[in-house]
Amino acid sequence: MVQLPAFEHTPIETIESTVNGIRASFLSHKTRPLEYRIQQLRKLYWGMRDNRELIIEACKKDIGKSTYETYLSEYGWCVNDIVFMQKNLKRFAKDEKPEDMNFQNKLFGPRIRKDPLGTVLIIGAYNFPIQLSLGPLIGAISAGCTAVLKPSEQAPHAAAVLEKIVKESLDPSSYTVIQGAIPETTALLDQKWDKVFYTGSANVGTIIAKKAAETLTPVTLELGGRNPAIVTKHADPRLAARRLLWAKTLNAGQVCVSQNFTLIDRELLPAFIKELKNAFQEFYPDGVQKSPDYARIVNQRQFQRLKKMVEDSKGKILIGGTMDESDLFIEPTVIQVDSLDDSTVKDESFGPLMPILPVTDLDEAIKIANQVHDTPLGVYSFGTKAEMEKVLSQTRSGGASCNDGFYHASIPTLEFGGVGTSGAGAYRGKASFDCFTHRRPVTTTPGWIEGLLSIRYPPYTAKKQKR
Ligand code: NAD
Repeated sequence: MVQLPAFEHTPIETIESTVNGIRASFLSHKTRPLEYRIQQLRKLYWGMRDNRELIIEACKKDIGKSTYETYLSEYGWCVNDIVFMQKNLKRFAKDEKPEDMNFQNKLFGPRIRKDPLGTVLIIGAYNFPIQLSLGPLIGAISAGCTAVLKPSEQAPHAAAVLEKIVKESLDPSSYTVIQGAIPETTALLDQKWDKVFYTGSANVGTIIAKKAAETLTPVTLELGGRNPAIVTKHADPRLAARRLLWAKTLNAGQVCVSQNFTLIDRELLPAFIKELKNAFQEFYPDGVQKSPDYARIVNQRQFQRLKKMVEDSKGKILIGGTMDESDLFIEPTVIQVDSLDDSTVKDESFGPLMPILPVTDLDEAIKIANQVHDTPLGVYSFGTKAEMEKVLSQTRSGGASCNDGFYHASIPTLEFGGVGTSGAGAYRGKASFDCFTHRRPVTTTPGWIEGLLSIRYPPYTAKKQKR
């Protein structure tokens, strides 16, 4: 059994001087050379490797995540992202030339430099406590920024392990972790930043964006879901059922991109429900609570919120529904609802609740999806190719997966982000580098060209104006 480090709030009175120190490191230019950034990424890689068991144990303690899920969605995810960034950083950081330059413009050597934004604040969410903190940090390091990381206090064991990794692996003058909840985050937001990268709920995102606007600080906001899944009568009910049930059972449904509700053609409903029951039995043959693969709700507050959602629902529970408060266990719960006002549909459940709402046809499904949220984080469609294309062309969303639940979010080189009220900005793959980079246009005017340039200087004689 590994010994997890303790989680301790950072004293608020130390925050200002810590941030000033991290800013001073950026201003010393030490993070600019690519060799420095690659070295830091390499150290982070080994920090992850050395603390793999602690990461697995912390995720188990915080959210009951199985070793396999932690490997897939936290440890392995971040290690792959580090390796990818190390391999590609030189290419990403290279100057770019503008397209279609004529001879005259070429003389000025126009190019885009990739400059680091500066000193950045990264605020993480609890559901993927390692991935959602380190993912943006990998981007910040690769871009040459210095950074302060504020992990979620709702996953305290993972937050403490992150602090250990950052402290032991990275240059302490450039990267640090501040621990805490609202008071500490508020104190952090009072400091000067060159970017704030926030992952979490839309409500808190609004607070962050307002605060950042006071100092014109750019933000990347990775916000919440209320994502629709649409299943037409032409869909394969078995595939749709298995894939959507998986999307609601991974991390016990505490996934920003999982479907919040499913709109299903009435004609396919009986077959879909039958296949959901089959998949449920197949995934958890000995019952869900006994399964070592199923996570827990992060804390009592979230458990009570979800419990109330189910109690307030007017729908009919078709599958699951059991809860165990002492174990923070909520069974994946499929509920047939008949109204958009149902408690399980109108708010983001962010848990293992799967309301399904029967509809007459695809047009009605698209209309309802747009009515509930016109810019969700994800849209998932099951049907013919043409139907899935129709869903894409008549909805908006941060990302989309056709014939699956949130597969698009698992491709490491595909940028990830929201749109409208589900977020602003994106990261992952090259987008993580771009997210913390200023694309700085530069020209260099040769001295010998002065003769040619004389036409721009006054007096604007009649001869010059004729040309
Ligand atoms: P949250 O908004 O409660 O907390 C996120 C972070 O904000 C935490 O670090 C927390 O300490 C901080 N925070 C909370 N209240 C604050 C305040 N008043 N002022 C300043 N900082 C504050 O979110 P959560 O419960 O950790 O995560 C759940 C939400 O996050 C869901 O809505 C989910 O959809 C969303 N989410 C989005 C993504 C994404 O990539 N788009 C990923 C994960 C989670």
